[in-house]
Amino acid sequence: MSLNNQELIEKFRKVNNLEIIESQSDIKRLSKDFYNYSPVLTKKLEGCIADLVVRPGDHNAVMKVAEICWKFNIPITLRGSGTGNYGQAVPLRKGIVMQMSLFNKLEDFDPETGFVKVQSGCLMGDLNKQLEKYGRELRLLPSTWKTATIGGFIAGGSGGIGSIRWGFLRDPGNLLGLEAVTMNEKPKLLKFDAEESEALNHAYGTNGIITSLLLSTDLKRRWYSIVIECTEFKKTIEILKTLTSAAINLKLGAILEEEIVDQMPTWFKSKSSGHKILIQATLGGIRTVELICKKFKVESSLLGEEEKLGNGISEVVWNHTTLHMRSRDKNWTYLQMLLPLNDELNLINFLRKKWGKKVLWHIESVSQQGTPRLAALPVLKWNGEKELNEIMDDCKKLGAFIFNPHVLTVEGGGLGVVDADQVKAKLKFDPKGLLNPGKLEGWAIKEQFKN
Ligand SMILES: Cc1cc2nc3c(=O)[nH]c(=O)nc-3n(C[C@H](O)[C@H](O)[C@H](O)COP(=O)(O)OP(=O)(O)OC[C@H]3O[C@@H](n4cnc5c(N)ncnc54)[C@H](O)[C@@H]3O)c2cc1C
Repeated sequence: MSLNNQELIEKFRKVNNLEIIESQSDIKRLSKDFYNYSPVLTKKLEGCIADLVVRPGDHNAVMKVAEICWKFNIPITLRGSGTGNYGQAVPLRKGIVMQMSLFNKLEDFDPETGFVKVQSGCLMGDLNKQLEKYGRELRLLPSTWKTATIGGFIAGGSGGIGSIRWGFLRDPGNLLGLEAVTMNEKPKLLKFDAEESEALNHAYGTNGIITSLLLSTDLKRRWYSIVIECTEFKKTIEILKTLTSAAINLKLGAILEEEIVDQMPTWFKSKSSGHKILIQATLGGIRTVELICKKFKVESSLLGEEEKLGNGISEVVWNHTTLHMRSRDKNWTYLQMLLPLNDELNLINFLRKKWGKKVLWHIESVSQQGTPRLAALPVLKWNGEKELNEIMDDCKKLGAFIFNPHVLTVEGGGLGVVDADQVKAKLKFDPKGLLNPGKLEGWAIKEQFKN
């Protein structure tokens, strides 16, 4: 049995606490995310528009929508704020977009452990403000933290500001549990512990409708931002590595190549030319940063406490660097990779020689299972898919691990392999494959995972 849009709207109107968005322009807007950073995805996703958007106000409304969609085989694509870059929140097979923005409450905070239970649609900026009352803050933030939801970050993000200390979202200890509604004939609200949550963490909402999360938090600290000037690129890497192995508390460490600095907003640029190293540390740590700068004979400027700066350095790092480059010229796109351990310069020098200024370097410090590593989000001048693939091949050959931002699937943008637990969770909690269809490659070979 199938329904036309009007019949579906009639069914949804009978659900309490459910907002229905019928305006075509709103539906179009809410069917898109920031996939336009990738010319490859732009071509693929332009026509993917939902039939309808709904915003549930409580668990009962989520379950009722799931029940109706199950009965009439209607796909549901979850949405937080739609700031993802890989079309994660784009409905490939139409159906319903379910936006979780009304699920925005901090449900519980445990002062003993610092664990916070929060609804999935809560904006990270709001959550951090509420955590401040308890002397805590989120460990990890994407550079979109002001506008993005915590549920979207867990389901679609990977890491960001704070990754220098806390690694990535999927590292054990960051997500401790979650609650999610299943997509079955009789949808249920289930509780998952830390281990069970792993299968739903970074699954693009393909195997459960996450309604709340239990997360670790960190002590709230006052982070100070300092910018280091350096004319030699090789030296920027040495300085950053020296800083990340020093006994100081860091929230952020990034390098922007000179040509990138030139394209950043005017408030960020300084009179001196050259590459810049961007650091966020506690005030105590800043003393050591300054000492290390002295040893390397480079200049630094302390901007002040990040939160009190009108414009802070958090706004020019992670994918915000790409955002500013694109605001100057839409032909910039980007890549994401983990650089080879202690062989970063070999790769960068090879690419510089071969590709020149078509590839500009933006580096971020991260912790990979406790080891300080350098990740890169280089910006590239778009010159077709063939050249993009050639650049990625060069990086892979030289030992980088690429997290490809030009693909649609969980696996393609991640480790490149099917995660059996994600597929098994989908078989259990979404057996008809209606949640965000087309985004989990492993679903095509699901038979292998049936017991
Ligand atoms: C300029 C820019 C900078 C960025 N910087 C970073 C960064 O530093 N680090 C980073 O990791 N990402 C970054 N991103 C990507 C994105 O902003 C973040 O991952 C963000 O946290 C996504 O949150 P959202 O609410 O916008 O999620 P959405 O884009 O709405 O959704 C993301 C995914 O999660 C799923 N989802 C959403 N809510 C739920 C739910 N309740 N249950 C199940 N699935 C759900 C969606 O279906 C989708 O697959 C950046 C993007 C831009 C444009």
